[in-house]
Parts: sequence; C-alpha cells; structure tokens
Amino acid sequence: MLLERPAPAAERPLRAATLPDPEPAPGEVVIAVSACAVCRTDLQLCEGDLAARRLPIIPGHQAVGRVRAVGEGVTGWGIGDRAGVAWLGGTDGTCQYCRSGRENLCDNARFTGWDRDGGFAELIAARADFALALPERFPDRAAAPLLCGGIIGYRALRLSGIAPGGRLGLFGFGASALIAIQVARHWGCEVYVVTRSEEERRRALNLGAAWAGGLDERVPVPLDAAVTFAPVGSVVVAALRSLAPGGTVAVNAIHLDRMPEFPYELLWRERVIRSVANFTRADARELLDLAVAIPIQTAVDPFPLEEANEALRRLAEGRVAGAAVLET
Ligand SMILES: [Zn+2]
Ligand SMILES: [Zn+2]
Repeated sequence: MLLERPAPAAERPLRAATLPDPEPAPGEVVIAVSACAVCRTDLQLCEGDLAARRLPIIPGHQAVGRVRAVGEGVTGWGIGDRAGVAWLGGTDGTCQYCRSGRENLCDNARFTGWDRDGGFAELIAARADFALALPERFPDRAAAPLLCGGIIGYRALRLSGIAPGGRLGLFGFGASALIAIQVARHWGCEVYVVTRSEEERRRALNLGAAWAGGLDERVPVPLDAAVTFAPVGSVVVAALRSLAPGGTVAVNAIHLDRMPEFPYELLWRERVIRSVANFTRADARELLDLAVAIPIQTAVDPFPLEEANEALRRLAEGRVAGAAVLET
C-alpha cells in the first residue's frame, strides 16, 4: 500500500500497487510480513501532518513476519525465523548519541515507513541488526502492536520518572496507553486516565485504573508523573496542571498541533515537560521481556492489508478498539 501524495484519510491516500520484490542488501534481511499494526504516526504521515521524507513510500513500522531472504554478512538470522521490524530502522553507530547509549537521537537515524519502505506490504527489507526477535507466546497479530505503541509507550513511562507505587496520569487512551497501563499496574502504580471517550474510560477502569475522567474534569490527586498520548498541546498543559511539584510530563508524540502558552507557575517548583523521541534497541528488548513477564494483553482490530485506507479512516475518527492491525 503506497503513499504517493498525502491526503485526508477519508480520501484514501494509499494505493494498492505491485512493486518488484525487495532484495536484501548486505546486512539486511527480507521478511514476509503477516501482520503490521497501524500507528497514529502512520496516519499523520498519510494525512501530511508529519512531512514525508520520501515519496512514494510504503508506510508501516510495526511489522511481524518470517525471514524470507538473508543478505551478505548477516549473522543471527536464518530463513523462516520470526522477526519484527519497528520504527528505528537504522543508525550510524558512530555519532555522539550512538556512542552514549542514545541511538534514539542518532543524527543519521533512518526510520521504517518514513525513510525506508515499511510494513504495509507483503515483503519488507530491514537491517538485520535492527530486526527484533519476538517472544513466541505472542501470535503475529498480537505482537505487532507491541512494536511501536508498546516500545515507545514504555520509553515514555521510563522518561516520566514514575517510580513503582507512584501516581501516574495517562492522557489519551489509545493503543499505546492500553499497553502502558499494564506495565504501570505491573509496577504497582496508581493510574489516573484522562480521555474524552467514555468507552476508553470504561476500558481504563477495567484494566485497573484508579480513576478515569474527561478533559474537563480535575484529576483528584496530584500526579507524580504523566504521559500524554494525544497529539494536542492543550492536553500537555492539562497534564502539567495535574502534576505534583518535581513531576514530569512525558510527551509521547512525534507531532503536536501546537504548544499553547501557559502561566509559568504551572512549571514552577521543578516540574518538567519533556518529549519522547523514538526508542533504543535496549528499550525494545526490555519491553518485549516485560510483555512476557506480565503478560501484556494486546487488543487488536484486524483489517486485510488492502483495507489499509479504511483502518486509517477509522483511526482518524477514533473508531478503532485497541490497535488496528493489517494482515496479509
Ligand atoms: Zn508508531
Ligand atoms: Zn548515531
């Protein structure tokens, strides 16, 4: 499913196309994709909110499948192995960030479905050293949503500084928050969920939230940390308003509509706002280990690959229960 020109989801920006099969370059594997989850970032790219880096491009960065071909020099992967391909598609390994455990900030990072063709396809080529081994207990369709929503949600939790047993706010409750709440509950945190959707509030309470309310309601306790998932700056300010002194809001969004002005007293007393950019392979391994230990349940809304436009449209309209997953 190819993106040639961004357009509103209702105008079906993706086109089914037949392309030559990708060949693995040295250091790469080619994977036959069976499932690829759809992330809000895919929607933002397809609609043009996130500027395309390359057109045409195949979006999708939560792909699961089996290795079909192995390029020269690849070690650790064989034909038929199950593998996942996520957002971080490659780094230079040499810049100051890569050398200090922060490959998520690499100056020359390449992203799946943005710089490189992604997983809304039957085949995907990926750097072997960035492909992820997946725990067997998750079938393909259940593993796919872990690969962005799960991993980046986990990084956001870490960067929020939430300690075991602490009071955590989750602002927005889509696919990523559905996984984050399970990790936070596993850590014994009290979780407060703010979302305008009544159905999502119900889901949050079912997953062990201590409280769930709308954006116009006040969180009943001061929060030690918060993560925002909605791509809306006013939600970041709402989260900041709910924080105890010294608390952090981690903003889990590659694109925000804008950052509104707010009174300095909301930030005063060492409150912090920080963005969360991408992930490291260490984050991925940690989240996948946790997914097995908890075990994380992923809620999946499956679509055939050729109905990718429909999945985008439903995501845009907020009508996806859990994570949309395209299946070949
Ligand atoms: Zn994503
Ligand atoms: Zn680097």
